[in-house]
Amino acid sequence: MTALPLTLQRGACPALSAPMMTGDGLLARISLIEAISPEQLADICRLALTYGNGMIDISARGNLQVRGLSKISAPRLDAEVRAMKLPLRDGLAVEVPPLTGMDDSEIADPRPLAEAIREASRGITGLAPKMAVVVDGGGILRLSDLLADIRLVAVGKHDWKLLLGGTEQSARVFNVLRETLVVDTVIDLLKRLASLGDKARGRDLVRGLAVNEAVPHTSSSSSGLSRASAGIATVDPSQMLGTSPSMTTGNAAASPFELFVLSDGLHAVGIGPAFGQAEAEDLIILCDEAARLGIKTLKPALDHSLLFFGTEIACRTLRDFAHANGFVTSTTDPRGHIAACSGSPACHSARIATHEIAAKASAECADLLDGSFKLHVTGCPKGCAHPQPAALALCGTADRVSLIAEGKAADQPFAFSSFADTNATLRRLADLVRSERRPGENSAACLARIGSDRLAAAATGRP
Ligand code: SF4
Repeated sequence: MTALPLTLQRGACPALSAPMMTGDGLLARISLIEAISPEQLADICRLALTYGNGMIDISARGNLQVRGLSKISAPRLDAEVRAMKLPLRDGLAVEVPPLTGMDDSEIADPRPLAEAIREASRGITGLAPKMAVVVDGGGILRLSDLLADIRLVAVGKHDWKLLLGGTEQSARVFNVLRETLVVDTVIDLLKRLASLGDKARGRDLVRGLAVNEAVPHTSSSSSGLSRASAGIATVDPSQMLGTSPSMTTGNAAASPFELFVLSDGLHAVGIGPAFGQAEAEDLIILCDEAARLGIKTLKPALDHSLLFFGTEIACRTLRDFAHANGFVTSTTDPRGHIAACSGSPACHSARIATHEIAAKASAECADLLDGSFKLHVTGCPKGCAHPQPAALALCGTADRVSLIAEGKAADQPFAFSSFADTNATLRRLADLVRSERRPGENSAACLARIGSDRLAAAATGRP
């Protein structure tokens, strides 16, 4: 039997062949680049029951994660999954929106560029394990809220905005490029990142480059970049190639928990397990029903969802079935507005039972969870489930729970709660938002307006 490299350090990236140790055993990630069938997902679930503890995560980026593996069972899972001939990702994560190629509202098809970048990056070694490139052609379901080291966003049929670090909103615009320059430019940037070491991320390129400083590239580079054309843009990128602002894409990323109308009469429906984690048996039941309804394909997708593709009637029927079986099926489900990591006991770094807290919060604070922000419930300050800032976060620490506003899990808290009082504290904050909310104001805006001092007073029950 082949020994697998075990990934033990925090911050590492689990993979099918490099499982990561967690509180409930080894965790192996299955990353797919194309749709699979419901039958294939059901088979993966059966493998999770055979080799793992039967729990499956769907990550925020749409990766499947099989939990509870052992040193003996992980290689067996690896071999059996590979024998299934699934469209597994191999090499650098180059992600495209899940409806791409089926979405008539897409500005440009990102798949040829994504494939070219994937291929051209194969020889680059020494990149950070979680290095991610997003190629987003626009459309109804975008990847704007996912962090990316390098992000390409279509601003015209053959023009792409290149951004570095962060989400689409927080990233820095690097340039707007003709399609013919995109692959070489991205490869130049990846090589530069590799030369900075395996901790370097896209945001480090932003720090390392002065405004309008050219990216150093070798004379053999065919990128065609010049000092004038490659740099952090300081002007509206839509002006750089004469594209009109109306051609640029908005930043709004729709929720996957919708019914989508696609090309050629195809429909898709987004369904997800609460807090991104399901029992394999429940997913098997869902997949069996999908197959019975004639649904042929599905994709694990962003926001811990599964997108099922089929006729309108099949998608609607499956959505009703999933709702009746406890899955998240709607944008109004408060559980879909909580980002909770695995927490205790599944992760050995966790100080709190995140899913328990999140389940209570969704039942008790539904009006606070209006979709304007993700409530971040994290077992420790690492903040795996929501690496970007959140309007409100609850973070487990050694002796209590910290509450953070407008920040990341590791940022300065505005208040603390005892473990036992966590949900009651959150209820007090929800009560405050309810009483303070102005007409038309959403929860995120209300929380920001209230501010840390008053939130702290409410959290601790002070008048
Ligand atoms: S954020 Fe959650 S899943 Fe990540 S290491 Fe901390 S407790 Fe574990």
